[in-house]
Amino acid sequence: MMFGDGWPYLTRERAVVLILALVGMGFLLFQVNQPHQPRMSLWGGSNPWGGGSGEQDGLTGAFQQTGQGLNGGALQPVGNPLGTGNIVMTQGYGVGSHAPAHVWGAIDLALDGDNDGVADPDGTWGQPVYATHSGVIKAARDTWPAGNHIWVMNDQYKTGYAHLQDFAVVDGEVVQQGQVIGYIGSTGQSSGPHLDYQVWQMQAGRWVNVNPLEFGTFTLR
Ligand SMILES: [Zn+2]
Repeated sequence: MMFGDGWPYLTRERAVVLILALVGMGFLLFQVNQPHQPRMSLWGGSNPWGGGSGEQDGLTGAFQQTGQGLNGGALQPVGNPLGTGNIVMTQGYGVGSHAPAHVWGAIDLALDGDNDGVADPDGTWGQPVYATHSGVIKAARDTWPAGNHIWVMNDQYKTGYAHLQDFAVVDGEVVQQGQVIGYIGSTGQSSGPHLDYQVWQMQAGRWVNVNPLEFGTFTLR
């Protein structure tokens, strides 16, 4: 058969299959291109440590953990991954580099040793970071923009801990709620020592970003 008779192999059925395959490939590429890691902390200004909390970028003020959580083996995250002490939220959920929330939802946390409402960099470096629920560790170093990054994952929830100085666990390790998994740093795209913390929940077969402040013990003041 010579050219001019059309392409005999492109039957209607095969055309349908080809179109479906192309649509499927396009969908997969779209999925791959969706960001899955936390982005930088902008701190909302040139001086990330000044200005107090609650003034810009949707800062909602400092908060303290009120007690419960960080014990047991719960699958659901509870409370504050920095444990006890005075903690300030230097960038809120769904604002600044955490917007839009369904993609970049996170909160940025730092320590405020003197309780003046402003992050304390000297007191924040190297502080322990705790798993807020049980799960399996997925750890990656030197990623961008998340720096040294850990996921704690189980069937229902995964939580992300970004910009770590170092890890206290290894990839694939099973951790319990309250276990130290790493130490606060400023790796990746970050302008000061802090923890970028994300919570994702499995809903109808896919991961949905949710506000960490919905889980337990964060008390805004
Ligand atoms: Zn952040």
